[in-house]
Amino acid sequence: MREVVIGVDLGATKILTGAITTGGQILAKAKFPTCSGERDAGEILDLISNSIIKTIEDNCFAEDEIRGIAVAAPGPLSYPDVEVVDSPNLGWSKLFLKDELCRRLGRQVIVEKDTNMAVLGEYFFGQRYNCRCLLYITVSTGIGGGIMIDGKLYRGSGGGAGEFGHMVLDPRGPKCKCGRHGCWEALASGTAIAREAAGFVSQGKGEGILANCAEGEQIGAREVGDAARKGDPEASAIILRASRYLGIGIANLVNIFNPDTVVLGGGVALGLQDLFYDSLLEHVCNNVFALNSRNLKIEMTKLGNDIGLWGCLASVLYSP
Ligand SMILES: [Zn+2]
Repeated sequence: MREVVIGVDLGATKILTGAITTGGQILAKAKFPTCSGERDAGEILDLISNSIIKTIEDNCFAEDEIRGIAVAAPGPLSYPDVEVVDSPNLGWSKLFLKDELCRRLGRQVIVEKDTNMAVLGEYFFGQRYNCRCLLYITVSTGIGGGIMIDGKLYRGSGGGAGEFGHMVLDPRGPKCKCGRHGCWEALASGTAIAREAAGFVSQGKGEGILANCAEGEQIGAREVGDAARKGDPEASAIILRASRYLGIGIANLVNIFNPDTVVLGGGVALGLQDLFYDSLLEHVCNNVFALNSRNLKIEMTKLGNDIGLWGCLASVLYSP
């Protein structure tokens, strides 16, 4: 009999809900807009549970075929009570996410921080069993991370481990959405790249970047990347600056954790890797202790944007 896991990857802009067999075949995937600015927490929770029910009904999964349900959610999430303490991405606070979902669905649901799900997916389905210490770093609108040590997910004492994006690299740097200044994600994320580009434009520069923006569209990291590929010097400078900070941040983590492998994922990392990877590597190499660079690998995830769903499958099968 086939068994499936229903996985949900909850983001600020969309919910990705999918069904994967325990043998590792994705049977169904569907995206639903979150509209987190317009919907309150209760409405988004309804949306999540309805997307799960719809996936089960649309694919005619029988009750005994469903091995488990798992949800990857933006952090920070406290453990073991799985409370969203204060999520800047969704604007939620003091929400017992697991309890709320279990109540709505009338069954058990595994809830894990999205970057923790991602590192689980990478470890079990990205074939990283040989790693004693695996770090996963997502670079998208923000920066976050997950840590596997000796085959186990490391959550820290209360669930807050892996908030890599909020290590301060420059106290006089730009303001982060967490309220502090110069956090890694305020310097090297897609949001940081877009902000730098907007800065050029506000000074009457950035023509090459604007040429890649459709009318009325906001400048994003993708447009800056497109301009850099065409040789635009301002766009290239923005990407190089971000890759320098990415490299320095990774080097800090490498000196703390001494990982075998650092895996990068997320929209910005996957979309701009051709532009920043070499420079990032150079800055990592220049900033890590020799011992820590000996067997170090820095690679892109092979699981792409489905990494959260693979993590959901891993969380059900291997209950971390
Ligand atoms: Zn921050």
